[in-house]
Amino acid sequence: MEFPPLAASYTIALPSWIEDELADVPDVVPTLEERMALVNRLADRNWREGNGGPFAALVAEADTGRIVSVGVNVVLSTGVTSGHAEVTALGLAQARVGAWDLGGAGQPRHELVVNWRPCVQCYGAAMWSGITTLAIAGSGPECEEITTFDEGPMIEDWAAAFEARGIAVIDGVAKDEAIAVFREYRAAADAGAITVYNARG
Ligand SMILES: [Zn+2]
Repeated sequence: MEFPPLAASYTIALPSWIEDELADVPDVVPTLEERMALVNRLADRNWREGNGGPFAALVAEADTGRIVSVGVNVVLSTGVTSGHAEVTALGLAQARVGAWDLGGAGQPRHELVVNWRPCVQCYGAAMWSGITTLAIAGSGPECEEITTFDEGPMIEDWAAAFEARGIAVIDGVAKDEAIAVFREYRAAADAGAITVYNARG
C-alpha cells in the first residue's frame, strides 16, 4: 500500500450533537455551579455518543459567565490523541476571540471549567492559554480509579504552580455529579459496550 502524502493540517472539531445540547443554553450562564452542570451534561453525552472519554470543558468570561466556547473529548471521533476537552475548548475560544492569549491586553478574565483535574497534557495547555481561573469538579484519584484513564505524571504541587502564575484554582464544584458520570461510563466499559482508549492494564 502507498504511504499517504504528508498531511498539512488536522482538525479537532466538535460533534454535531453539541448544537442540540446548547440550544437551550443562554449566552450567559451566571453561576459556576450552572456552568459545571453544563460541563457534566456534555461529558455524559460525549461518551454515550462515542466521541471519546467522559470529559467536557468550557471557557467562560469569569466576571459575567458568558460562554465563549465548549469542548468535549474528541479523541475517538477525530483520531487525534491531543483532542481532549480542555484543548478543544481553549482552541475554540482562541479562535472565537481571535487571539492566542486569552489573558492578553483588552481581554476579559477567562475561566476554564472542566469535570476533573487536567491530565499532564492539558496541564500545560491550560497554563499557556491565558486563562485566569481553572474550575474543576475534583482533583483526587477517583477519576483515574473509576475511568481507568491514565492522566500522566502530574507534579504533586500542580495547583500551586497555577497559582504562582496568577491562575486561581477552584476545586470541588459539583464533584458528586462528575463522579456519577464516570461511574456510568465505567459500567458501560465493563459491559463491553464502548471503546476505551489509553486505558491502563
Ligand atoms: Zn487532557
